[in-house]
Amino acid sequence: MAENNIIECPVCSKRTVVQPKANVYQCLACNFKRDFSKPSKPKSNIGFPLIATLAALLSLFILRAVYVFSNTPDMQQREVGSSTAPTPTQHRIY
Ligand SMILES: [Zn+2]
Repeated sequence: MAENNIIECPVCSKRTVVQPKANVYQCLACNFKRDFSKPSKPKSNIGFPLIATLAALLSLFILRAVYVFSNTPDMQQREVGSSTAPTPTQHRIY
């Protein structure tokens, strides 16, 4: 029975792979083990792109916020106005 299912281990290249369960292949020589009974894609695989997308969106928002904040004309006007002509009337235009 086992002679028909001799599988060469992809890790150590020995023909010591056994099949303890219907969908489980395990190598006796090394720690190689493959379980086909479990779903091919665990939840972590679905969650990772979601988290990555959220992180990317979040960093995009932060970058945009920093960019807008550092390049606000009001901020530059205020700095220029305070150094050259500190008149409060300039601020009231904005
Ligand atoms: Zn092996």
